[in-house]
Amino acid sequence: MKKLAMIMSLLAPISHHAVAETIYNGDVIQGRKVITQLDVSDLKKNTVTELFFRAGDEMNTGQYYYVPVTVMKGKNDGKNVMFVAGVHANEMNPYLTANLIKQQLNTDTMSGTVTIVHQYNIPGLVANVREYVPSGPVKVNSNLNREVALSSTKSSSQRYSYSLWNHLLKDNADYALDLHTANPTTFPLAAYSDLSIPAVKELTRLFPLDVTINSSSRTSVAGAYNHIGVPAFTLEIGSREVYEPQWINQALDGAMNLLKFAKVVDGEAKRYPDIVDTNVWLDVTAERGGFVVPKVDVLDQVKKGDLMFVQYDAFGEIAKEYHSPADGLVIQVVQTPMAEAGSQLGSVVYFDPAKALSDNVGSGSVVVKDLAAKK
Ligand SMILES: [Zn+2]
Repeated sequence: MKKLAMIMSLLAPISHHAVAETIYNGDVIQGRKVITQLDVSDLKKNTVTELFFRAGDEMNTGQYYYVPVTVMKGKNDGKNVMFVAGVHANEMNPYLTANLIKQQLNTDTMSGTVTIVHQYNIPGLVANVREYVPSGPVKVNSNLNREVALSSTKSSSQRYSYSLWNHLLKDNADYALDLHTANPTTFPLAAYSDLSIPAVKELTRLFPLDVTINSSSRTSVAGAYNHIGVPAFTLEIGSREVYEPQWINQALDGAMNLLKFAKVVDGEAKRYPDIVDTNVWLDVTAERGGFVVPKVDVLDQVKKGDLMFVQYDAFGEIAKEYHSPADGLVIQVVQTPMAEAGSQLGSVVYFDPAKALSDNVGSGSVVVKDLAAKK
């Protein structure tokens, strides 16, 4: 029996938060305390706390990565809202949007808590690339937005992701927004969101979006939150590696609106009912190598067969013309005007009413059916 009890205890789900608490390891960096776990409920009310979260395990130098986090806790109780920036490290508009959200807030008049993860992917940011870059000699970069809520901790990026999800993100949000940009194309203000979840769709209506793209992956930040019952989506704020104030200001507008909706901030939440929801995504892919001149802009309405791109060879001769595969909306256009065969030039999206919303367009899609678990 004793053996059976032991086996049962091994089979029981491991809870890392039986007693949730913020754990300080005693280190202080640039005047900020270092934590290895965050529980916003044990921070003082009406305070702004800047912390470094020690992410993952030791890199090749024997040192750690430290993720800057701000916790703004209101004077009154209320909901917890999480903003995450920099999962894809070369996407600049998200960092700048997160900073503006922080500047707008005043804990004196807030109810609840806003947590901002300023720079999620430190090794990627240092290297100026989208992915996580290992410090060791084997350079296999990882897309951190496909490693959230994994149980595996084999690789350094999985260890990094594991610590961020389990000890920083998971238990500190009633609503969450993961801030991104397109990569490597030009893009509007758009949401990758699981439209089959009403609470998620409702959240998208708080943003002045051009379009939503029905999508989910359980190992993305937003998908992992959805899976535990927290409404969340991925907000795409324009294009990578550039500063685009028009999209940043609209993203900020939506974020403040979300905080009103969550009653963290006073005021009436606006709704944007005229957002175009889409559930079909078609890529236009280069079949030749060479320079590419776009003949369409992001958000153009196109008809099937409309000219979208002209590609030139090394001698300046037309190598190939590319046409729209469907009637729809141009959602992305190549940012650097060159391509090798096989790379994406642009994409067209539209809504097909015959297609189930659960058949979403995201890669590695998982249908999340039961979201009642946590709420
Ligand atoms: Zn991204």
